[in-house]
Amino acid sequence: MVTLFPNEQRATVCVSSQIGCGVGCIFCATGTMGLKRNLSYLEIVEQVYLARQLAMLSGRHLRNVVFMGMGEPLHNLSEVIEAIRWILSDVGFGISQRCVTVSTSGGNSAMIALARQFPSVRLAISLHAADQDLRRRLMPRAPNDLDALKETIREINSLQQSASLQKIAPVWLEVVLLAGINDSESHARQLIEFCEGLAVEVNLIPYNRIQSDERLVTTDNTVHKRFANQLRSAGIVTTIRQSLGGQDDAACGQLVVKNG
Ligand code: SF4
Repeated sequence: MVTLFPNEQRATVCVSSQIGCGVGCIFCATGTMGLKRNLSYLEIVEQVYLARQLAMLSGRHLRNVVFMGMGEPLHNLSEVIEAIRWILSDVGFGISQRCVTVSTSGGNSAMIALARQFPSVRLAISLHAADQDLRRRLMPRAPNDLDALKETIREINSLQQSASLQKIAPVWLEVVLLAGINDSESHARQLIEFCEGLAVEVNLIPYNRIQSDERLVTTDNTVHKRFANQLRSAGIVTTIRQSLGGQDDAACGQLVVKNG
């Protein structure tokens, strides 16, 4: 399942690394499928090829590849690493490391292995709550020791520094805000505390409703802005991600294969 973002001259493709996913995040349709199978590196590269062809047809240039589709990329690490090699290679797509993002629910040793191989590839960690119990409820099968996660981010920050990168791509922390669950001022304070001493930026992602859980509700715009401003006041670069594809059930967290 491949998604080409529709409205950029320099196009971005969102690729999948697995069919289904074993992490089981409660706000994600893919998580309801369970893991069906890993994709091979060729199946991942094929998605990039297809996206590049589609981009060219509309006179655009494929610039960015984000591993944010179906699956937990670090549960399929060797194939994802091989796919990234092709994406970066001059005989493949010649895309810069800085233009590749891998989104993950965690996995400390796998994150470090990836950062060692590709120090400029951006890691986007699905955090969703800086409270361990709450995070466990939201992401039941994600690695969930927040102290260990923080240590890993420190190590990734210093790996990037020692690679003498002129401009470090800070690790992104991704937070889907759910009304009444993880969007209060005290949740923002916990997140601020988690960010202390780390080179990170926060992405707030509007929740896209899925059919499997009608109790989950999107945080409204005012609360999104209040949450973002609280983080910004603490000096944390924070963006609210624009959500695309909801009308087609193809937005973040909505990808699912029926009978997959
Ligand atoms: S949000 Fe990502 S890690 Fe969580 S179930 Fe969905 S695809 Fe898996």
